[in-house]
Amino acid sequence: MSNRSIMLTDSLYEYMSDVSLRESPLLLALREETSELTQRSMQISPEQGQFMALLARLIGARRCLEVGVFTGYSSLATALALPDDGRVIACDVSEEWTAVARRYWQRAGVEHKIDLRLAPASETLDALVAEGQGGTFDFAFIDADKTNYLAYYERTLVLLRTGGLVLIDNTLWSGRVADPEVADADTVALRHFNEVLHRDERVDLSVLPLGDGLTLARKRG
Ligand code: CA
Repeated sequence: MSNRSIMLTDSLYEYMSDVSLRESPLLLALREETSELTQRSMQISPEQGQFMALLARLIGARRCLEVGVFTGYSSLATALALPDDGRVIACDVSEEWTAVARRYWQRAGVEHKIDLRLAPASETLDALVAEGQGGTFDFAFIDADKTNYLAYYERTLVLLRTGGLVLIDNTLWSGRVADPEVADADTVALRHFNEVLHRDERVDLSVLPLGDGLTLARKRG
């Protein structure tokens, strides 16, 4: 037996899901509706949504940021885990995809917890900083255009409180980050991002082989 992460065969993945997933019917319905879209691979997995919700509860999150909403699975999972006065500021540029998200937020009765900002995320984050909201967020999730990850991360770090947590998705990028032959813009950006975070003394760090690679960075005091 290796001390590395266990290999997930299809049957083991199915077993793990069977004994751990507690996906609500609405989350399941959203996941099924999104699976009809050609961009369906942009949706996080249900175990990842459940893990995010657990982390949000673990740190007592009330104020959250999301960069990249898509059809809303992660924001719905997060919002469901927040207390009634919890808030998610959700950034995206797509009316079409977030229309799906809004429909599910409403059906789940959490739309009052989610403040959707349809604009380039860097602009939204800059505006929050300019409004003096630095240091006031507990929890953040970055899952958007990979070439802007560092820009989103830097702004998010300003907005997080000490002890706040940012999760960053797709940091193992189907393994392409580890293949020196691959040099497209997204892969190069993610490789650079991972190297910068490795050296970043402002955060505690962990990279998990969950989904397509999930990085956890906790803001140090
Ligand atoms: Ca993703």
